[in-house]
Amino acid sequence: MADFALSSRSRKNLEGVKPELVAVVKGAILLTKVDFGVIEGVRTLDRQKELVASGASQTMKSRHLTGDAVDLMCYVGSRGSWELNLYDDIADAMKEAAIEQGVGICWGAAWTVPDIRVWEGSMEDAMNSYIDKRRSEGRRPFIDAPHFQLEISKGVSSVPEHFKHILA
Ligand SMILES: [Zn+2]
Repeated sequence: MADFALSSRSRKNLEGVKPELVAVVKGAILLTKVDFGVIEGVRTLDRQKELVASGASQTMKSRHLTGDAVDLMCYVGSRGSWELNLYDDIADAMKEAAIEQGVGICWGAAWTVPDIRVWEGSMEDAMNSYIDKRRSEGRRPFIDAPHFQLEISKGVSSVPEHFKHILA
């Protein structure tokens, strides 16, 4: 456990995000081994259109539009890092915080686990299990490691495109 805290920018990026998800992020920053910040919370429709147009997002039903998702970025010292193995450490902290807060969370690198609280094992294992499943189906895994969203239950209208085949 280290002494990390959310920056004022991170706290600003949490504005408008659902309180239960904010609670998990605030819990995770106290538990994480790897520092992180919140780079995106609520997204406007215009920004989502841009992201889809550029290929950075696959859906116009992003859960960022409704305040149900956050993107977290790892920091090593003061520098942001996209190194994947740092993100499963954040996911481990998010899992622990989700259990503490009693909130179901899904991670963008393990879409086959709709609620990370019930995954037994590390989140690295969860990601590898998702990747193996996709490959066994001859599909490319869709890894969005910075992304965390509130749990999805079947029949929710805001299920992202890349989720539908899993929940079908
Ligand atoms: Zn996201």
